[in-house]
Amino acid sequence: MSETPIAISALNDFLFCPVSIYFHKLAQQEDDMLLKGESQLNGTNAHKNSDAATYSSKKSMLQGMGVYCSEYDLYGCIDTFDTERGILTERKRKVRAVYDGFVFQLYAQCFALREMGYTVSKTRLYSMLDNKTYDISLPEDNPEMLIKFKKLIEDIRSFSMQGFKQSNSSKCNSCIYEPLCSFSVKTSGG
Ligand code: SF4
Repeated sequence: MSETPIAISALNDFLFCPVSIYFHKLAQQEDDMLLKGESQLNGTNAHKNSDAATYSSKKSMLQGMGVYCSEYDLYGCIDTFDTERGILTERKRKVRAVYDGFVFQLYAQCFALREMGYTVSKTRLYSMLDNKTYDISLPEDNPEMLIKFKKLIEDIRSFSMQGFKQSNSSKCNSCIYEPLCSFSVKTSGG
């Protein structure tokens, strides 16, 4: 492990805005609950059962387990993994779109589980509010996305806030860290 392993959750945060991962870290160090907006809080609640290992009592179902991937130096938690069927599932409160960040989080979890000796044969997202499941190709079955995943990790490692400019005001308009952020380009009506 390097001195700065990357949190799996940061993969999605970084794609939203690179600066947000710094605020996310700060928020975790302070009081996680204080800085989480309603939608993120709901996202947390989507994991509540798995974090408490109560989603299923089946012994073959791993839930909320901490994982580490040495190949990419990533750490985090899986949501649920069915060891019998090899199905890795990440539940979200509501999947409005299959964002690349969601896919990359599954890739990271998949790689970590495989390093631990598990066989991952299927990955999927589950949208809890509308009870929809989205099958996601395994990393080896989607070379284009795998290249993007590797590039994202390189981008995170080489990112410097110096010289960063946010150009998408709609992101700032919906960003929970906006009041604290000197990079904000929030529009007055946003
Ligand atoms: S306010 Fe804008 S620039 Fe700052 S973290 Fe949020 S999205 Fe990024």
